[in-house]
Amino acid sequence: MLIIFDLDDTLIDTSGCITPIQLTNALEKLNSLGVVFPDFDKSLASLLRLNETAPSARHAVEEFFEISGIDAGFLDVTLQSVYEEFPSSLQVDAHDMAIDILVALSETHKLALVTVGKEELQLLKLKKAGIHSEIFSKIVVTQERNKKIHYNSIVQELEMDSTEVLVCGDRISIDLTPAKELGFKTVHMRSGRGLHCKGDKNDVDFTISHLSEILQILPQVSNITSLIGNIAHDDK
Ligand SMILES: [Mg+2]
Repeated sequence: MLIIFDLDDTLIDTSGCITPIQLTNALEKLNSLGVVFPDFDKSLASLLRLNETAPSARHAVEEFFEISGIDAGFLDVTLQSVYEEFPSSLQVDAHDMAIDILVALSETHKLALVTVGKEELQLLKLKKAGIHSEIFSKIVVTQERNKKIHYNSIVQELEMDSTEVLVCGDRISIDLTPAKELGFKTVHMRSGRGLHCKGDKNDVDFTISHLSEILQILPQVSNITSLIGNIAHDDK
């Protein structure tokens, strides 16, 4: 099979080890630019609380601006700080056992990565998390939030059939819905954004909260595939 992973909150703990630090740095930057917070810690707590259930850090920042009455002219510089200014000291943690699971999967399956963000930063996160990029047959970093065209081109390039593809990600609408539209099987990783994300539950074939569960899912995916009349898979 071909297994296509998302990166943030799927293979790495973005919501735990990156986003809170990026939001803190962004608020400090706003402060340094002259935006006054009478109680900085309280404002930060409010921003972090909004972020916990927001579909993205961008949404949390926008809501925070609205609630706090901050001049929207500061929005771009704030989002730039959150998404593009990555301190070299920042530690990136892979999810528990993620590296071992990828290595195990790579022995019998093809792996790919499709992630939204700036290429330089997404590859840096991968490296800092200790995940070797060579483990993936294909890596796509895109600034657009539509993953469908990238899923499609990877499947064509690797000459896979759509019934042989499994996509694993934390955000249903961004990671899984486009996969389902292409006839792939989907795994929803309930982690970080994936704990609160909205989306069409019909686009989710399997739900996991730890990456190791994917190892149990694979034989079931192969069974479904053979049931619908395709070439039987070697479940290795
Ligand atoms: Mg994600």
